[in-house]
Amino acid sequence: MDKIKMTTPLVEMDGDEMTRILWQMIKDELLLPFIELKTEYYDLGLIFRNETNDKVTLDSAEATLKYGVAVKCATITPNAERMGEYDLKEMWKSPNATIRAKLDGTVFRAPITVKGIEPMVKCWRGPVTIARHAYGDIYKNAELKAYGPGKAYLVFEAEDGTETRSLIHEFDGPGILQGVHNTEKSITSFAKACFNYALDTKQDLWFATKDTISKTYDHTFKDIFQEIFDNEYAEKFNCAGISYFYTLIDDAVARVMRDKGGFIWACKNYDGDVMSDMVSSAFGSLAMMTSVLVSPAGVYEYEAAHGTVQRHYYQHLKGLSTSTNSVATIFAWTGALRKRGELDKLTDLVNFADSLEAATLKTIESGKMTKDLALITTLEDVSTLNSRDFILAIRDQLLLEL
Ligand code: NAP
Ligand code: MG
Repeated sequence: MDKIKMTTPLVEMDGDEMTRILWQMIKDELLLPFIELKTEYYDLGLIFRNETNDKVTLDSAEATLKYGVAVKCATITPNAERMGEYDLKEMWKSPNATIRAKLDGTVFRAPITVKGIEPMVKCWRGPVTIARHAYGDIYKNAELKAYGPGKAYLVFEAEDGTETRSLIHEFDGPGILQGVHNTEKSITSFAKACFNYALDTKQDLWFATKDTISKTYDHTFKDIFQEIFDNEYAEKFNCAGISYFYTLIDDAVARVMRDKGGFIWACKNYDGDVMSDMVSSAFGSLAMMTSVLVSPAGVYEYEAAHGTVQRHYYQHLKGLSTSTNSVATIFAWTGALRKRGELDKLTDLVNFADSLEAATLKTIESGKMTKDLALITTLEDVSTLNSRDFILAIRDQLLLEL
């Protein structure tokens, strides 16, 4: 069989720990035998980020803007423990936050549903897709410690030198402070990305913030969404038979648990971060969720929503067997390859991505799966496979599909 050819390189962002191991296995067993894989490789593993003073992360984001499609492995966001473990020069920022700050945009996270893995929320009949704003808020904050009594102000200095200030708090002892921001431009592109995605996928769109408490900040999100909806999308939604609905974040959380699913839930950056973990876990596993960043410039970055699966990696280092689910990382690759194929008009590449996804789902449906799924499946006659054997089982199925 001739290998499938590519014309434009994918931006490949390698990562850390267990997902780095899976990354290589996926390439070796599921991609390289079938595709003349063309990638521009960036090593976002923590060791190389540290060596390059994190320049490699910025370079990979620049390359994404240049080529249009990237695929990213999970990476460590350093904390105090990692400083010692990796002998870091600095507590480098989260690569995802750096990349998202550069690309802007919205992260769409949809559960990967498969027969035999039923959602824990019994009323969910369709997927719940999270649309997470990928710019600003606490991910681009400025923080301070107040070391003793004093007054803290929020100050805006306009270009013409005029100043607006508002008292945050008068401290009578030590405390902490945080400043966050967002821009009308980014919120506008977030809103449009959500409305377009809802139209593309013919699903209702929900949006929720805490506008009753945050009367300027969150309320601006609400207003921008409403204005854009009324002016540009109300008609189109009507024709498509879908709806846009705004409510308070607490109300949304409660409603999601009673709804039948099959809608998109637009979330501010932090809400989307935590809610996507809740939603994916409720659909079975952190590893059963796709994640793609869609930027207003029309570039796409595909990734898994879960982390580097540190606990499994330490087992792997001890020579113990692991059963780590590679589905989200496989779907990051298929998402990126499909998009590359669509942009470059390479039907073979698009078809390959479809076949690999089908093979992955059929493997699970045939009872071969990793431990996270084996523990919750409704299927009988299940074999729990280790990380490598699961990928090899997918390869056997893929050979039947092609
Ligand atoms: P995690 O890697 O998401 O794993 C947390 C737990 O969830 C695992 O211990 C495992 O549970 C389960 N799990 C997650 N993915 C799984 C998979 N593919 N297959 C089977 N089980 C899976 O989160 P973490 O351990 O808290 O974080 C590790 C590192 O990842 C951190 O350094 C963090 O900074 C980084 N992180 C990166 C990203 C990203 O790059 N997108 C996102 C989040 C976190 P059991 O142990 O019970 O088996
Ligand atoms: Mg998260």
